[in-house]
Amino acid sequence: MNAAVVTRFRHPLELRQLPVPTPGPGQVLVRVRACGVCHTDLHAVEGDWPDKPSLPRVPGHEAVGEVVQLGPGVDYLSIGDRVGVPWLHWACGTCEQCLSGWETLCNQQLRSGYDVDGGFAEYLVAYGRFATRLPDGLDYIAAAPLICAGLTVYKGLMMADADPGDWVVISGIGGLGHLAVQYGRAMGFQVVAVDIDDAKLNLAARLGATMTINVRNTDPVGYLQRQIGGAHGALVTAVSPPAFGQAVGMMRPGGTVVLNGLPPGDFPLSIYDMVMRAITLRGSIVGTRYDLGRALHLAAQEKIAATVQTARLQDINEVMEHMQTSALPGRTVLELG
Ligand code: NAD
Ligand code: ZN
Ligand code: ZN
Repeated sequence: MNAAVVTRFRHPLELRQLPVPTPGPGQVLVRVRACGVCHTDLHAVEGDWPDKPSLPRVPGHEAVGEVVQLGPGVDYLSIGDRVGVPWLHWACGTCEQCLSGWETLCNQQLRSGYDVDGGFAEYLVAYGRFATRLPDGLDYIAAAPLICAGLTVYKGLMMADADPGDWVVISGIGGLGHLAVQYGRAMGFQVVAVDIDDAKLNLAARLGATMTINVRNTDPVGYLQRQIGGAHGALVTAVSPPAFGQAVGMMRPGGTVVLNGLPPGDFPLSIYDMVMRAITLRGSIVGTRYDLGRALHLAAQEKIAATVQTARLQDINEVMEHMQTSALPGRTVLELG
């Protein structure tokens, strides 16, 4: 099968012929029809994070396709089922985190496209109980970006402690952020979109953002405090450390900032400001299988859809370059077979 493989950090992916994998106990073989390209895949290629993937590795954790073979003991899926294979490839199911509804924090978890091979290939194996069935009527290209980007921002916004009518900042209007604008609207929030690129901000406005701020020419903290006295919540998906400190500054007293973006680096925090304004800061990582079902359902109900560019597997290095320079609005989805 054709696959795009990371063989060395900070080098182009290699297009390789790999054997079609065999599903083991509890696993299924999925014929990949589409796979979204998440900025996390670029972090994997760059080796940006403290725990790096072992190489060679096939990235991709927004894979969708159909089940074509069952390993021994698969009791949940059937051949022909249309499924998505998310970042949470497998979790143990017995630890404290798994048992308390936080399987995304399982410390034995395996991550698709990071610890095990992912969807930048014509086939992949997934655990039957961790591949999520896609709703009827949702085509593969439309479904792919929801499997990570949609899920992650749905969960992140749920963690923002905001109520309908509240102001919520979405910082970074890329693959995640442009879906967050739509999920935020569906949850009844007034959305403030923040980015460095006018094309992304225009997209956010078309998708229902009430206010847009380009941080290249406006100080977002001063502006938002003057305009509305700060927002109630923020979801930061920007791939830039200063955006995280700015989001804290954009809060009104008692606000909650949820961190989704994962640029390498740190940002400064004023202890005095955090305490005196009682700001909550929390990280949020993808979502559980239950969250994914809810995120897909809400997308279908509210007509939440990614703005998609399609590309071929062999164009993957060009797609990565565009992502590095933030050139394309929305999500790029690799179309396979
Ligand atoms: P993307 O490249 O599509 O979007 C990033 C956006 O950030 C772009 O629109 C860019 O213009 C914008 N940006 C850059 N600098 C900015 C700044 N200073 N202020 C405001 N916006 C700025 O990336 P993506 O696929 O949406 O992923 C975003 C981040 O989220 C990545 O770091 C990715 O690894 C991470 N991520 C986290 C989770 C999670 O579960 N926490 C899940 C998926 C992705
Ligand atoms: Zn992702
Ligand atoms: Zn566990």
